[in-house]
Amino acid sequence: MQYFPLFADLHGRTVLVVGGGAVAERKVRLLLEAGAQVRLVAPEVTEWLASQAAVTIHLETFDARHCDGVVLAIAATDDRAVNEAVAQAGRVRNLLVNVVDVADLSSFIVPAIVDRSPLVIAISTGGVAPVLARLVRERLESLIDGSFGQLAGLLQRWRGRIKAGLPDVNARRRFYEGVVRGHVADLVRTGQDAAAEAELHHSLVHADAPRRGSVALVGAGPGDAGLLTLNALRALQEADVILYDRLVSAEVLNLARRDADRICVGKMAGGHSVSQGRINELLLEHAQQGKRVVRLKGGDPFIFGRGGEEIEALRQHGIPFEVVPGITAAIACGAYAGIPLTHRDYAQSVRFVTAHSGDAIRGLDWATLARERQTLALYMGVAGLGHIREQLTLHGRAPSTPVAIVENGSRAEQRVVLATLAELEEAGRVAQVKSPALVIVGEVAALAQKLHWFGSAPVVWQELRKAA
Ligand code: SAH
Repeated sequence: MQYFPLFADLHGRTVLVVGGGAVAERKVRLLLEAGAQVRLVAPEVTEWLASQAAVTIHLETFDARHCDGVVLAIAATDDRAVNEAVAQAGRVRNLLVNVVDVADLSSFIVPAIVDRSPLVIAISTGGVAPVLARLVRERLESLIDGSFGQLAGLLQRWRGRIKAGLPDVNARRRFYEGVVRGHVADLVRTGQDAAAEAELHHSLVHADAPRRGSVALVGAGPGDAGLLTLNALRALQEADVILYDRLVSAEVLNLARRDADRICVGKMAGGHSVSQGRINELLLEHAQQGKRVVRLKGGDPFIFGRGGEEIEALRQHGIPFEVVPGITAAIACGAYAGIPLTHRDYAQSVRFVTAHSGDAIRGLDWATLARERQTLALYMGVAGLGHIREQLTLHGRAPSTPVAIVENGSRAEQRVVLATLAELEEAGRVAQVKSPALVIVGEVAALAQKLHWFGSAPVVWQELRKAA
């Protein structure tokens, strides 16, 4: 290791900054945030620097005596001779000096940081690849959200009480583990500060009680793992057990914590799905064992996903839960097929409809669904293509209305078949469309021809027929 990482307490101490431009300004800002007194030496300074009460300004050229009594020095000028003079003066006095962006003159370097005070993450490549350090910082910025700082602040405020309540070191460590991975952290993250404080108090008083489990109802999106939200990723990485649906892609599951138990509740070995009642039971059982459970569902959990029923059961049993939305099939299929679901020229609204065969189809209000200037996104419609065509045309939608069948939307195997409403059933049959597929009805469907960008180009079903 070429550099020794450390965090320095600069409160009330004097730091020398040489230079009065934009770079010096950036350094001074950070130093002031850390409570330092700044001695600034430069013939000229920016307006902002001049206005800082905690900055003592010497409007002159650098002289070694400016180093007297300081704990650190930073040279932020674009004049190599001045930078060298500061480095030299530092060496003589055994003072740590940073020359901004000049590693060979520096005896300390300033890391890239992610500031979630009191939590601060410092990143350094030893000056070798600052761009890489910035990339790492950006990644961390998105993973370590602002709530980490609040959580750290909460623990800071409670530190004394926790120590008094749990004198045993090991018990204390277990307690902290439970707090940062458990429900208290969830409450902080979802902005429920008072509840977080109450929960922390409760768990401190009942520190020997078993850990409380929780459930995150997470939308896995349509398949492409890049469409997961950061919250979904976090939940997957914190999970003890994951109950997932058949529709969830392997790519998404692969992002889950390696040690998490994965239970498929979409289809069992014999080909039967686990009943909704049994899924609710499984969620309860695991959460009651104190585990962090992720219920992972294709698309969005509240769009044709029975998510509502699952959390209702959890609420009845007092199990804490959160809901992480996902990108629903209609949104993803539209985007990945080049079909804008609304369009000023063609469609002012879009309707998400489930067209499961049988009762679900018969119960639909076809008269309103057949209206012009709207797009229909039909879920689970593969088996009912004939019925959809029949009802929509019967209720007045033009047989020439464009339709698109998007199979495996957003996945490597995505296929888009274009036809008209009159041809819908036949197109599905000739193309041998399989689930999961979404049917988009409306003028916008035709736009896939010119706006497609993902995977293979859409096929017009008649061409398939010719080829067959
Ligand atoms: N909660 C899910 C929908 C569950 S219903 C969501 O929000 O997307 C299951 C139906 O969703 C499938 O029958 C199909 O119509 C649609 N669907 C889900 N994933 C899909 C995908 N990748 N491509 C096309 N349709 C998909």
